[in-house]
Amino acid sequence: MSDRPPPAFRAAATGADPLARGGLRWSAVPLLAYKEDETTPFRAVTRQVLFHTPELAAEWRYFEVAPGGYSTLERHEHAHAVMILSGRGRALVGDAVAEVRPFDLVSIPGWTWHQFRAAPDAPLGFLCLVNAVRDKPLLPSAADLATLRRNPGIAAFLDGRGDGDCG
Ligand code: MN
Repeated sequence: MSDRPPPAFRAAATGADPLARGGLRWSAVPLLAYKEDETTPFRAVTRQVLFHTPELAAEWRYFEVAPGGYSTLERHEHAHAVMILSGRGRALVGDAVAEVRPFDLVSIPGWTWHQFRAAPDAPLGFLCLVNAVRDKPLLPSAADLATLRRNPGIAAFLDGRGDGDCG
């Protein structure tokens, strides 16, 4: 038998009110910067890698976007499987913008533009399942942004307008 307890018993989740306004942390898991590359546009996002093990071809991460923050608008070949776990906000996936709240499932296919934005007065936390080996995200060009902005709903989302309608 191994001396080490299984990882599930090393990591305790903390958070006073994760379903409503509060944040969520696994106290035994390091809290990381969202991206190592600080030139990538994002605001107020933290990352915890909950599971990263050679036996699995996947990583299971928890991201938390502080109130008013947003993840990077990006796309890539690999897909994401997301479950919202705390707070509230909105997600852009492809040409759709949707309000999201705990336990919503968000499927992000390969090569699909995506971004998460927390509400102005609440964080947005989500689990994200991803391939362990994966390609690097691409950022939108000026032409990509112009194309996205032809959709008024996406333009409002990218400008952070309409957040007050959440929840
Ligand atoms: Mn991504």
